[in-house]
Amino acid sequence: MDARTEAKSHYEVIVIGAGVAGIYQIKRLVDLGIDATVLDSAGDLGGTWYWNRYPGCRFDSESYTYGFSFSRELLDEWHWKERFSSQPENLRYLNYVADKFDLRKHMQFNCQVEAMRFDPARDLWHVRTDDGRELSCRFVVLAIGLLSAPTMPRLEGIADFKGRSFHTYYWPREPVDLAGKKVAVIGTGATAIQLIGEIADKVDDLTVFQRRPNWSAPLNNSAISDAEMDDIRARYDQIFAACARTPGAFLHEPDPRGFYEVTREERVKLWDRLYDEPGFGIWLSNFREIFTDEAANAEFSDYIAERIRRRVNDPAIAEKLIPRDHGFGVQRLPLETRYFEAYNRDNVHLVDLGETPLVRVTETGLRTTARDFEFDIIVYATGFDAITGAYDRIDIEGRNGEKLADLWKDGPSTFLGMLVHGFPNLLMPTGPQSASASTNFPRGIENGVNWCTDLMLYARRRGATRVEATREAQARWTEHVAKMYEMMLLRKAKGWFTGYNSNVAGHEAGKVRHIVYNGGTPKFVSIINDVAARDYPEIAFSRGDIGDEPAAARASATS
Ligand code: NAP
Repeated sequence: MDARTEAKSHYEVIVIGAGVAGIYQIKRLVDLGIDATVLDSAGDLGGTWYWNRYPGCRFDSESYTYGFSFSRELLDEWHWKERFSSQPENLRYLNYVADKFDLRKHMQFNCQVEAMRFDPARDLWHVRTDDGRELSCRFVVLAIGLLSAPTMPRLEGIADFKGRSFHTYYWPREPVDLAGKKVAVIGTGATAIQLIGEIADKVDDLTVFQRRPNWSAPLNNSAISDAEMDDIRARYDQIFAACARTPGAFLHEPDPRGFYEVTREERVKLWDRLYDEPGFGIWLSNFREIFTDEAANAEFSDYIAERIRRRVNDPAIAEKLIPRDHGFGVQRLPLETRYFEAYNRDNVHLVDLGETPLVRVTETGLRTTARDFEFDIIVYATGFDAITGAYDRIDIEGRNGEKLADLWKDGPSTFLGMLVHGFPNLLMPTGPQSASASTNFPRGIENGVNWCTDLMLYARRRGATRVEATREAQARWTEHVAKMYEMMLLRKAKGWFTGYNSNVAGHEAGKVRHIVYNGGTPKFVSIINDVAARDYPEIAFSRGDIGDEPAAARASATS
């Protein structure tokens, strides 16, 4: 039995999405006794970790910095088995959390939200689902994920292929037998890099179709023993406090020294150490200048290029795997396990789409400008319409009839990444232009969910039925976010941090979309906490003439 059997049509809060953010949001609401439900299009909870089942899928955040921090009991009970835990284990964790806190009964699955409309006469959202229902609520919390709108190439013939094909996001739930198969992987982003390293020795033949190479560095994963886990448990407070101090909300802190204050030998010494360390240290414990200074970035990129050359036997292939159009770390860094070594295998081939672009999908495989290839399986590791994509896929209409997708056509504008003027009572704990969208996700999620929950409670205390960021505050925030891009080299890169996606009309290279906040977690948290501490002067609270609203809504607004 899921929550749908109650046949309720009104809640105080509807949370859309049962991933990491939705799970934490419903936990907070249930604890506060707020009438709420979670809707998710998936068959079960887990979000990212429900959908992405491709081989090799795992964290690149340290597992023990990824888990929820809100329950000491949970922290004490859960044993992370690997430093960077794999998808099946991560999904098991989220199910464990939901079951432990009895949250599943507040969740409704196989239920896609198609449209939402704000009713200004009653200060309610009307939410339409694909199973034909119309629900209403005072607040909607959009916990719809950051990378949850997968995109396919705009290629002819995708449906003509007679073998099996899927986007990595939709990797089948039942195991895919790869033995003896000829497999194509299109893309060389973080997903493909994990997948290729994992399946290279399991398939008969693997052909990687690479349009642009990506910088990548070793994950250096390892098991976590019982003794290590005991030690981690004893240090959880320190671990989360340390994450809160770093820009990325990871354990990796930038090197305090200036790039040019130390000698080249000292720089290389640091890089040699970081290359062999687990996780994002090579990216985030580096000198800050690699993100802002072209020359510093170029020197470090050359260092990594040399590392790639050392790992790939064929010098011509090695050169193809080294990015030329962007420096290290200005796109989201993929971490890899045996990725470069995969190209040393006889059964792994690299097709450079820069030289011979894809022309179409055929019944038997793929056609480039050079030749036809035959495959049993084609895997599209072609990425996501990042951050705003999931919002664009719901028809969201604000109080004046304006559509959110239209408002954000040229890029999002928000207040703190969590509210949108014209769309009252719509909360986005990890929305575009929030820091949560660019950092260790669960740490950002907890910050965002806590802030949104506090805002709902504040509105309740004031007896407000409508909560809306002012136009001016939104304009200021959006400008602040845009200014931060000007300081960062990432603004020049064709990565999802700039909203680039060649497969989505209007998202092609050329125009930077300011979709993430680049000021880092500590600064973001101090800004949002300050807004709350000053009683939200940038937000208008009002109590409308709510006429004949449902009795449940009247009760919850005044309780
Ligand atoms: P991505 O980084 O956007 O990479 C997509 C890849 O597909 C790129 O190599 C892209 O080439 C290629 N591509 C896209 N359209 C194409 C087309 N029409 N023809 C040929 N090639 C095409 O996507 P992703 O690898 O799925 O990763 C997205 C994000 O998910 C990551 O940055 C990360 O934040 C997250 N992620 C996290 C983990 C983890 O935590 N462990 C693992 C996987 C993913 P171009 O570069 O030329 O566009």
